Amino acid sequence: MRIVCPFCGERELGEFTYLGDAKPVRPAAGASQDEVFDYVYLRDNVAGGTSEYWYHGGGCRAWLKITRNTLTHEISSVDPAAGVGAAKAGA
Ligand SMILES: [Zn+2]
Repeated sequence: MRIVCPFCGERELGEFTYLGDAKPVRPAAGASQDEVFDYVYLRDNVAGGTSEYWYHGGGCRAWLKITRNTLTHEISSVDPAAGVGAAKAGA
């Protein structure tokens, strides 16, 4: 699998580290114990399209948000994750 980093171009998978599902959203302060448990421990095992965080440690060190099909490994989008990566993209 090859990933096209928005800052470095197309690179091989070994330069990247998978950081997990990008869909869970941190519960608000005061959320119930069940909501926090679900956020921390429960993840869907998606067969198909999913959104994930990846880290380009072998390149620009940007956090990326990648939309990927887990069955075919086809990548449909690679975007800077919010924060430092997004700021670099605008530079
Ligand atoms: Zn990069």
